[in-house]
Amino acid sequence: MPDYMFQLESRLSPEQRAAMVRIQELAAESEANLYLVGGAVRDVVSGMSIRDLDFTIEGNPSRILRELEKGGAKLTKEDESLRSAELVLAGEVDASISAAREDIYARPGAKPDTRFSTIMEDLRRRDFSINAIAISLNPNSRGLLLDPTNGLADLERHEIRALSIHSFTNQPVRLLRALRYAARMGFKMESRTAEWFNLALERKLQETISAEDAGGELRQVAREEKPAAILKAWESHALLEVVNPTLQKRHPDYEAINRIFRVREDMVSSGLRPRLFAPVTVAILGRLKDSERKAALSRMSFPSSELRSVQDVEPEALKIVKLLSGPKTASARDAYAFLEKAPLDLLAYILAESNNGKAVSKIKSYFSKWKPIRQALPGVVTELELLGMERGSKFDKVVEDFFQLQLLGRARKPEDHAKILRKLAGIKEPPKKVEEKKKPEKPKKKGEPGYKQEQAAAAGGPVTPPKIQPHRMAPGKSSPAPTSKPKPKPKKK
Ligand code: ATP
Repeated sequence: MPDYMFQLESRLSPEQRAAMVRIQELAAESEANLYLVGGAVRDVVSGMSIRDLDFTIEGNPSRILRELEKGGAKLTKEDESLRSAELVLAGEVDASISAAREDIYARPGAKPDTRFSTIMEDLRRRDFSINAIAISLNPNSRGLLLDPTNGLADLERHEIRALSIHSFTNQPVRLLRALRYAARMGFKMESRTAEWFNLALERKLQETISAEDAGGELRQVAREEKPAAILKAWESHALLEVVNPTLQKRHPDYEAINRIFRVREDMVSSGLRPRLFAPVTVAILGRLKDSERKAALSRMSFPSSELRSVQDVEPEALKIVKLLSGPKTASARDAYAFLEKAPLDLLAYILAESNNGKAVSKIKSYFSKWKPIRQALPGVVTELELLGMERGSKFDKVVEDFFQLQLLGRARKPEDHAKILRKLAGIKEPPKKVEEKKKPEKPKKKGEPGYKQEQAAAAGGPVTPPKIQPHRMAPGKSSPAPTSKPKPKPKKK
C-alpha cells in the first residue's frame, strides 16, 4: 500500500504542514478522531496541487476553532448548526474543519436532516467518489486511507462518479460541481453519472439551484487555475443561466480571464502565490454593466469582505496606477517601498489590464529586478559578516544602504561588493600584499634561444632582438594566418 502519510507530508507547503500539525495536536488534546478529507486527499493521491485542507472531526470542533483563533487564525465562515467552519491559518493556509455528519433525506430532493456521525457515514454523504476519501490523522492509524466508495479506482479511471441515483436531485448544485471537477481535472463523467446528469437537466433541476449555492460555485471558479474551461463547460450546458442569466447571454470575458492568468503564471514562476479571486471575478463579469454586476454579486450572497474586494478592484487599481506614474514614486527607492506594500492581486490586475506604460514598467521592474535583489540580500549579510562587522543596528543600516545602491543600478557586480560594503561600513581596506621578489631566471645554456642576447646584455653590449620565425601568410592575404584551426567547410547536402 502506498505510504499516504509520506506523500501527504512531502506535498504540503511548510505552512500547510504546520497548520496540519497544530490541528492534530488540538484534536489529540480533545481526544477526538481527526481526518483529512475531500479535495486535499483527492489531490494528494492524484498528484495535483493541494489548495486547501479540509478536516473532519468525530465530535464538536468548536474548542479547536477557538484555540486556533487564539493563535491568530481567521474564521471566514462558521455554521454552528452544522458545526463547520472555514478559516485562514498562518501563511495564508485555507482550511475547513467540520464535524462528521450524515445527511438524511425524507424523500429525494427534500431538505436533509443532519445527524452528527462517524467518518464512514460522513464520507458516504459526499458528492462524488473522488471526494469521499479520507486519511486518518489519529496516532494509532496515522496515514490509513478510508475509501468506502472506491474513489481511488475512479481517480485512476479519470472519472467523476456520483454516489447515488438521487445525487443531483438531492443537491442540484452538484450539476455545477460535476462539470467543475471534470473540466479542472480533465476527467469525464462515469456513464451512469452522465445519464443521471442529463436526466436532471431534462427535468430542469438546475432551476432549483439557490443563488447562494450558485454564488458559492462561482467563488470557487474564481480561485481555480483554469476558470475559462469550467465556465465554458457551464455555458455549453446553459448552466451559466443559473449563476446569472445576463452572464449566459453576454458570456464571461474570456480574453480578460486569459490575460490575468498569463500574469498569474509569470508570478507563480517567480515564486509568488497570488490570490486572484477579486480580479478574476471582475474579469468573469467583465461584460456586464456596472449596475448588472452589482446586482449579480449581491444576488449570489458573496460574503461582504469578498463583495467589497471585488468592487474595489478597479478604483483601487486606478489609485495605484496614478501613484506609480506620479512624482511620489519617481525614484526606484520610493517605487520599491510603495510596491512592497501594494496588494499583489491589484498589481496583477494592473499588469493584465492597464495601458499606463510607466506604472506597468515599474511593476515589472519590481518583480523582475528589485524583488530578486532583495531576495539576494542574505548573501550580502554573509559578506558583511565575513568582513568582520558585528551584527546590530549599524550592520542593518549598511545592508539597507547597500540595497538602496543596488536599486539605483550600482553595486550589482559581485566583485564590487566587498569594496562598497567596506566603504559603507567604514572598514579600512586591507593593506596591499607586497609583491614577492621575482626569482632570478636560470642562465641560458649555450645554443638555447636567447643565449646570445643574455651574454651581450651581461657584457653591456647592444641587444639584438631574437629572430622571430615568420608566420606563414595565407596566399594573397596580408594578415597572419589564424593560429586556431580553420572552420570546416559546411558539408554539401
Ligand atoms: P477544491 O477546494 O479543490 O475545489 P474541494 O473538494 O475541497 O475542492 P469544496 O467545495 O471545498 O471542494 O468541498 C469540500 C468537500 O466537501 C468536497 O470534497 C466534498 O467532499 C464535500 N462537498 C462539498 N460540496 C458538496 C455537496 N454539495 N455535496 C456533497 N459533498 C460536498
